[in-house]
Parts: sequence; structure tokens; C-alpha cells
Amino acid sequence: MIRIPKSILHGMVDHAKRESPLECCGILGGKGHTVERAFELQNAEKSPARYSMSPEEQLRVFEEMEKGTMDMLAVYHSHPRTIPFPSETDVKLAFYPEVASIIISLKEEKKPVVKAFRIGKEAIYLEEMEIVS
Ligand SMILES: [Zn+2]
Repeated sequence: MIRIPKSILHGMVDHAKRESPLECCGILGGKGHTVERAFELQNAEKSPARYSMSPEEQLRVFEEMEKGTMDMLAVYHSHPRTIPFPSETDVKLAFYPEVASIIISLKEEKKPVVKAFRIGKEAIYLEEMEIVS
């Protein structure tokens, strides 16, 4: 279960729109189940169909999170043209199976959809997501 403040969720959708038609990616840090901050990263692949985060940028984010005594709660990325469900590549390259994977779909331009998953080796689970104000 992951709890996301509305303002952070809006920021993530905004990030996805800015990077479209390329996928965007980022990391959510926080405490317990509650997200406190979104860190926007570069999509090192610069691709509309996949993403990767550079080790240098991830290190920088981990340092920032440590400073704020936050844990990594989720990784997010966008699907500029497809549904909010993990792609085969997402499953194969699940960087952090121990945290939630959030997908922002811009398939319906006027109605972005955000969903959270837990991508395991054997199965994909829907992760409960609560939006708080
Ligand atoms: Zn994906």
C-alpha cells in the first residue's frame, strides 16, 4: 500500500506530459507508506517504449533521500501511448522488485491514469494506492 499526496501525483503526471512522447521516470521517497517527495530522473534510454535510470543519478537521489531520512517507496515511469500495465520490458527489467512500480498512462490524452504495481518474478500484483490531500 502506498499513500501519495495529490500535489506530488499532479507533479508526476506533469513530468510525464513534459517528456511525452518519451517515457519519463522517477523515484518516490517517503516514510512508512507515505510519499514525501518525488525525484525526477532522466530517462537514459530517451525512448518512447522503455526507460532506464543512470547509476549516477540514482546515487544522487539516494543521497538526497538519506539526508531527509526517507526510504525509497516507489519507482515511477510513464507510458505515453499505452495502457497503465507493466510491459514485458518492465517485467524483465524491474529494477527494484521490492518497491512499488507506478505507471502513468497518457494513452487517453485528457484523462491520464496512474496505477501502482508490485512486479515480482512470478507475477504482477496490483498495489493499493491512496491519494491524500
Ligand atoms: Zn513501462
